[in-house]
Amino acid sequence: MTLMDGRAVANAVKEEAALRAKALIERGVTPHLAVVLVGEDPASQVYVRNKETGCRKTGIRSTVVRLAQDCTQQDVEETVARLNADASVHGILVQLPLPRHLDEARVLRLIDPDKDVDGFHAMNAGRLMIGQPGFVPCTPLGVMKLLEAYEIDLTGKHAVVIGRSNIVGKPMAMLLLAANATVTVCHSRTQGLAEIARQADILVAAVGRPRFVTADMVKPGATVIDVGINRVDGRLVGDVDFDAVSQAAGCITPVPGGVGQMTIAMLLCNTIDAAARHGR
Ligand code: NAD
Repeated sequence: MTLMDGRAVANAVKEEAALRAKALIERGVTPHLAVVLVGEDPASQVYVRNKETGCRKTGIRSTVVRLAQDCTQQDVEETVARLNADASVHGILVQLPLPRHLDEARVLRLIDPDKDVDGFHAMNAGRLMIGQPGFVPCTPLGVMKLLEAYEIDLTGKHAVVIGRSNIVGKPMAMLLLAANATVTVCHSRTQGLAEIARQADILVAAVGRPRFVTADMVKPGATVIDVGINRVDGRLVGDVDFDAVSQAAGCITPVPGGVGQMTIAMLLCNTIDAAARHGR
């Protein structure tokens, strides 16, 4: 069994990103990510801090625009409009979830698609769907990078994605399809899920349920990618029952230390791509 080391691959990606950032800065373009953070959600605060640290270490300028928990829809929309118009900002990210009184979809729609480094805008989802260049959501993009780093052959292989969210499951399926896998997407209404999962050469779990994927759902030798991040008794666990599944899998990502590490690395890459396009 091969343990897929997300930390090592992410570090390599970040090193390459730092070199690209340096080259851009030498050309007079300082890559700049603006993060909009609304309210005091503790998990969001941590995520944003990690993004700031990632930017700093890579040579990317970051600005965090903090808005109060009780701010209005207009406040958020005006902030996004201002960042869209600011030529020094290459990437814009609105940290989700927004407080419940705000219309998240409306806010995401307002982000300039060419600054949408999270890849959540419908324009970028559409570009991914029809194979045009655009921004791809960081987590599934990170999974593809991991598969590439471990030279996992995808052509003609059966990839099963469990989960159909707009930020993980659906873009994941599109990326695997573009890489010539035969893709099945399972979700909460899927019948016979275990049987389908057992046919997978590559099994991606993006469910949000601790240890959902059990050993009997995995074909011996399969590659198992665990996207899940769940907190159980103060510990982080994935969507895969790691101890049991690692006995059957050929390759597997741990949680923590797997896919989660890749997400920020890919955000840094997307921001540099945005700056590179701008500086052309
Ligand atoms: P989500 O809640 O938006 O989607 C979960 C998906 O799982 C849904 O499409 C649903 O149909 C499916 N599902 C739920 N119960 C199911 C069941 N019993 N059987 C089959 N399918 C079922 O979640 P998400 O945003 O896609 O995130 C999924 C997981 O990935 C979460 O644990 C989240 O924390 C994690 N995540 C990790 C990263 C990272 O950086 N590693 C990034 C984003 C999300």
